Amino acid sequence: MTAPATSARPRIGISSCLLGRPVRHDGGHKRDAYLCEVLGSVFEWVPGCPETAIGLGIPRKPIHLRRFGERIRVVEVDDPAHDVTDALADEAARSLQTVVPLAGYVLKQGSPSCGLHGVRVHDREGTHPAREGRGGFAAELARLAPLLPLAEETQLHDPRQRQHFIWRALAYHRWQQLAEDGMRPRDLVDFHTRHKYLLMAHDQEAYRRLGPLVSQAGNSGSFKELSNNYIALFMSTMRNVASPGQHANALQHMAGYFSDSIEAHDRTELGEAIEAYRLAQLPLAMPVALLRHHLRRHPQTHLEQQLYLDPTAFI
Ligand code: SF4
Repeated sequence: MTAPATSARPRIGISSCLLGRPVRHDGGHKRDAYLCEVLGSVFEWVPGCPETAIGLGIPRKPIHLRRFGERIRVVEVDDPAHDVTDALADEAARSLQTVVPLAGYVLKQGSPSCGLHGVRVHDREGTHPAREGRGGFAAELARLAPLLPLAEETQLHDPRQRQHFIWRALAYHRWQQLAEDGMRPRDLVDFHTRHKYLLMAHDQEAYRRLGPLVSQAGNSGSFKELSNNYIALFMSTMRNVASPGQHANALQHMAGYFSDSIEAHDRTELGEAIEAYRLAQLPLAMPVALLRHHLRRHPQTHLEQQLYLDPTAFI
């Protein structure tokens, strides 16, 4: 039987050592309890260790990033002639060729293979490291799949960055499901509608630029090209973490739906919670929980559809 091409939970690639697999060069691991025990309920992890996948054993000689003029290569620390840069790049390409597409990737910070930001780059002699590089596997992953949400495990310990990653992965997963099912113009309209407040929070101007693409969906000669342009702009809009002020603005728009339906003291409480969040006195989850509370009592289809209010992002 052919495997389904999409799954219920987003499938997220992850550096295997973060799940506790003993794949590090010294035979150890870097198990991350939060990823294993909490985020594992949201995502289906797809573990991979690029270094073992390219045939480096366990244990193995350590590797690092080394600069040779303009080029940065991944080489063995004790034998820089042993260069695994190309093998790691090939492994990144292979890891993207899954039957069920990945909706994101969580990478081990600081690794010369998996690190996403600020990995140590040594000079030609292997000394004077500067935190300016990206692991060989992670760099190729980012190049080949520019829309794929990527994060290091430490970013996911921060609530704002975690919410941001979950939203992006859920949205990308939804897009992949629609694409797999054969997306129609009305699916694009529905997708755009469900992400209205997330987009507004991240970039109001980009939200306005996406609108015309959606309105042309039914009339476009090439819907595929239009939808590709849409998701490229959507994912780039969602790339940066929104500021508290941007979120507060989106929350106020959503609160406006209840201006006639809830009591004055509830409106005040909601407004104060949004303001307290903006001033970093409350987490975002608090005004969102209040909005969900009012939504249960005063259903609003448009708000109920919003990924912004999905409790999954607030675990
Ligand atoms: S950081 Fe990446 S390459 Fe290193 S052990 Fe973990 S999964 Fe393997």
